[in-house]
Amino acid sequence: MIELVIGIYVTLGLFLATLGPAGKSIRREVEKTRGTEFTNAMMQREAPSEKKLFFFKLTLILGFSLLWPFLLWGALKENKNYEVQPDSDDLEHQGLKFQYMGGHGNLSCNECNFSESLTSFTHGIRSSRTGYQCQDCGKFAFRMRTDPFKRSSNENFDVPLSELPLDERPSRIEHLQQMLSLCETQMEKTARKNWLPTWESTVTECKKELSLVEENEIEDVKNKRLESENAYKASLFCECGGGLDRDNVLFCPSCKSLDLTYSMEYIT
Ligand SMILES: [Zn+2]
Ligand SMILES: [Zn+2]
Repeated sequence: MIELVIGIYVTLGLFLATLGPAGKSIRREVEKTRGTEFTNAMMQREAPSEKKLFFFKLTLILGFSLLWPFLLWGALKENKNYEVQPDSDDLEHQGLKFQYMGGHGNLSCNECNFSESLTSFTHGIRSSRTGYQCQDCGKFAFRMRTDPFKRSSNENFDVPLSELPLDERPSRIEHLQQMLSLCETQMEKTARKNWLPTWESTVTECKKELSLVEENEIEDVKNKRLESENAYKASLFCECGGGLDRDNVLFCPSCKSLDLTYSMEYIT
């Protein structure tokens, strides 16, 4: 009997932590830990590996499954804070937009029988997949964006530029430039007494590292980045010739209705 009760308790916990309401909170925690390019640069850290993130998620799910009666209320309250409220005073902007849709999911029309699975935005270690809609024919499409430069492996993160393997240099050079400009911008708009203690030393460090890089290598990195950006921009066209866009409100490709529903299946 007691086994059955424990079994039900844990199963219910697992359900809440994955498909249920706490699943959302857990996915959010994982995303926060993954960080964005900007937050990772700010904190001077590499994005955590997928393996670490997986174990982090697993720990959260298992922990929640055991302690769910104590944590459920918090998770529900938190979800409420994250709910997207469409801008109701602006009729033109009502409807679904890619920027408010997470991950990968299913889009269906409420006025006809159109339904399609699509990607809004998902990312892997070095690449991401972004969803678009053709503004002419309404077809949905996605484009892959791959970082042209290899990132430093975790164990190389503290290694100075001069000792890095050649193929990890471009990414480090960009990182140093970003850090430098980030700190310099902050220092410009902040009163000196409010500067963070790390800013000045970061500026000195970045300048020192970058001064050892030849001008043509810097130029090369810049051009490769630009090339990759331009190639991506050039790919943002549908087979029909129409432009792909993700800023406008989505419309049904068959009946043009704006009354669509998106349900997310997963986010990475
Ligand atoms: Zn429709
Ligand atoms: Zn098209």
